[in-house]
Amino acid sequence: MAALARANQQELEQLVYPTGFYRNKAANIKKLAEILCRKHNGKIPPDFETLIGLPGIGRKTANVIMNQAFGQAPGIVVDTHVLRLSERLGYTNGRNAVRTEKELMKIFPADTWRDFSLYLIFHGRKYCTARRPNCTECFLKQLCPSAAGAT
Ligand code: SF4
Repeated sequence: MAALARANQQELEQLVYPTGFYRNKAANIKKLAEILCRKHNGKIPPDFETLIGLPGIGRKTANVIMNQAFGQAPGIVVDTHVLRLSERLGYTNGRNAVRTEKELMKIFPADTWRDFSLYLIFHGRKYCTARRPNCTECFLKQLCPSAAGAT
C-alpha cells in the first residue's frame, strides 16, 4: 500500500490502461492508498460505510470487497449483468443500480446475497448476454417474462 501511495501517477496509468478510464482509476488508486496508509495503517477497512467513503469506491466495489475479502454481504453486488438480468427476470425495472440493489435486498433473504450476484453474472455471461440472450437453451425460460416467445 505504501508503494502505491508513493507511486508515480504515469506508471500507475500504464498499469491500469487496459481497464479503461485509466487516468481516473490511477488517480483514485493513489489517493486511496495515501488515505489507507494515513488513516487505516495501510489496510483495507472491513466496514462497508467506511469503504464507500474512500476514493473510487462505490456500493458495487464496496460490496465486492466485503464479499470477497471479508466473507460478508451487507448488500448485493449490482454490476451490468445483475442490472440487466434483474430486469429481464422481472425483479426490478433495471434502470438504476442502487435502486435495483435495494429492491433485490427486499426480495431475497440476506443469506443468499453473497452468491446471488455471482449466479446472475455467470448466467448473464453464458446464456443471457446483453446482445443476444440464448432463451432456447436457458433453463429459466419457463419462469422468465422476457424469454423469447413469452407473453
Ligand atoms: S429466458 Fe432468455 S431473457 Fe430470460 S433469463 Fe433466460 S436467456 Fe435471459
